[in-house]
Amino acid sequence: MRILITEDDKEIRALMRSTLSIEGFEVITATSISEARAILKQNLPDVMVLDLGLPDGDGTSLVNELRQHSNLPIIVVSARHQEEQKVRLLDAGADDYLTKPFSIPELLARLRVALRHRGTHLAAAKTTYEFDQLKVDLQAHNVTLKQQTLHLTPTEFNLLARLVRSAGRVVTHRQLLTDVWGPEYLEHTHYLRLYMAQLRAKIEDNPAEPHYLLTETGVGYRLAE
Ligand code: CA
Repeated sequence: MRILITEDDKEIRALMRSTLSIEGFEVITATSISEARAILKQNLPDVMVLDLGLPDGDGTSLVNELRQHSNLPIIVVSARHQEEQKVRLLDAGADDYLTKPFSIPELLARLRVALRHRGTHLAAAKTTYEFDQLKVDLQAHNVTLKQQTLHLTPTEFNLLARLVRSAGRVVTHRQLLTDVWGPEYLEHTHYLRLYMAQLRAKIEDNPAEPHYLLTETGVGYRLAE
C-alpha cells in the first residue's frame, strides 16, 4: 500500500513516515502542493494525506484536478482555525479529515475506512449493512433497529441511506443537501437539521448523545461504524 504524505512540517512528516512504515505502508512524502502534483503525475499512490497549511496553497485545486479522473482516497489534515478550507476540500471530493493534534490510531482508523471505500462505486454494490443494532437494506428500503422494523419517511430513508453509503466517513452538509434534496436546496440547512432530528428520534436511545448519527460540528454528519 503506497501512501503519499503532503506535509510541510518536518516533525509531523517524520512521525507519520516512521509510524506508517511500521504499519506496512510504502511512504512517499511531499512538502508542497506542487511537489505532490509532480509525484501524482508519475505514479498514483493508494491513498494521500494532505495537510491544509502548505506553503503554496490549500490543495483545493489539486483535489479538483484529481477528482476529474481518480477516486484516490484523500484525508485532509487541518488545524482548528482552518474550518472553512477543510469543508471546501471535503466538498471538492476529499474523503475525510483529521484535526491537529491527532493520534496515530485516529489516523490509521481514517485510513482504513477511506481505503475500504476506495472504488466501492465500481464494485458490485453492497446493499445490506449492519451497524451494531441497526440494520439497513438499501435495496428493499428496509431498516430495523433491535430487530424491530423502523417506519421512515422517504426523505428520512434517503438521508440515512446517503450516510450508510459513506459509513464511517464524514459527509458534508453540502453533499447531504445536494444528494438528498437536490442542488437547488443548498441553502436549506434547516431541512437537514429537522430531518436529522427526526431520524435520531427514531434511531437513537438518547438523541442528545447519538450512538449512530454523529455530528461533525461545522462540517456535516458521520454514521458511526
Ligand atoms: Ca503545515
